[in-house]
Amino acid sequence: MAIAKADINLCKGCRLCVGACPVDAIEPLHEVNKKGYEIIRIDENKCIGCGMCYVMCPDYVFTVE
Ligand code: SF4
Ligand code: SF4
Repeated sequence: MAIAKADINLCKGCRLCVGACPVDAIEPLHEVNKKGYEIIRIDENKCIGCGMCYVMCPDYVFTVE
């Protein structure tokens, strides 16, 4: 099954993906990336590979494999 992957160093912390995920598989973290933005984590056990995060993210963080 398709699973989303995130390149968290591209993330700018906008959190648009968190609300877009239909199965709450994207968790906002308080950790920051190299650029100082708060990042997210994908729960691969919940992800259904729908691609909504890929569509919503303005910074091309996601790929769906
Ligand atoms: S939509 Fe993209 S840039 Fe915004 S928090 Fe999610 S992964 Fe980061
Ligand atoms: S592919 Fe769909 S289910 Fe998986 S993290 Fe992205 S929005 Fe959520």
